[in-house]
Amino acid sequence: MSIILFLIGLIIGSFLNVCIYRIPEGISIVIPGSFCPHCKHKLSWIDNIPLVSYILLKGRCRYCAKKIPLQYPLVELLTGVIFILFYRRFGISAEFILFLSTSSLLIIAFFIDLRYMVLPDVVIIPSIILSVIYGSIYGFPNNFITAGIFVLIFYLLRVIFSGGLGIGDVELIFIFSLMLGFYGTLMVVVISSLIGTIYGVYLIRKGRAGMRTKIPFGPFLIGAFLLVSSLNIQAFYLPH
Ligand SMILES: [Zn+2]
Repeated sequence: MSIILFLIGLIIGSFLNVCIYRIPEGISIVIPGSFCPHCKHKLSWIDNIPLVSYILLKGRCRYCAKKIPLQYPLVELLTGVIFILFYRRFGISAEFILFLSTSSLLIIAFFIDLRYMVLPDVVIIPSIILSVIYGSIYGFPNNFITAGIFVLIFYLLRVIFSGGLGIGDVELIFIFSLMLGFYGTLMVVVISSLIGTIYGVYLIRKGRAGMRTKIPFGPFLIGAFLLVSSLNIQAFYLPH
């Protein structure tokens, strides 16, 4: 079962790549079929097999020999692994479906935010809807109270340090609260702040950023969410 889900994950991951590239460019995600972003040559099925094609083509386009960004096989692999981890956590269930679909949308958001510093509504709004459904079924009313607390804190931080957190980050913490509850969300905040700080210090030491350089925080939040939710990391293990 794990292998089948991994393969399905790879295929979904390949579709997520299409979304990551096309949503900011305003191209339909269905038509036309896959093409090389550089030379626009249409890709046949043999150049379109997740992971396998990248390895067979040695990471280069068959037609223009331009390098295929490492992001492509990475997203496919990541999605495949996440499919397995959620299956091991939830089995085949409604929770499994809800976490998978939300995570898939957030993987798209991760890469778009990384490049364009924006969390697109077409991805965030469905994630919010999914998280409200999840929270209503599995976390009512606690996760909604958690959401209220974290949204308030994030909103205040946003107002106090104007230009720090984006409105998208507030939306993300709302989604995470509903999906993870209090301790899981706390863990996401701790992990993302830690990694974000380390990354910021690294950029400053390398001379690639100053104290005022804007770094999108969304990818750190999303990365931490994927980690916490797929590995079921809890801030505290409550005794049963
Ligand atoms: Zn090409």
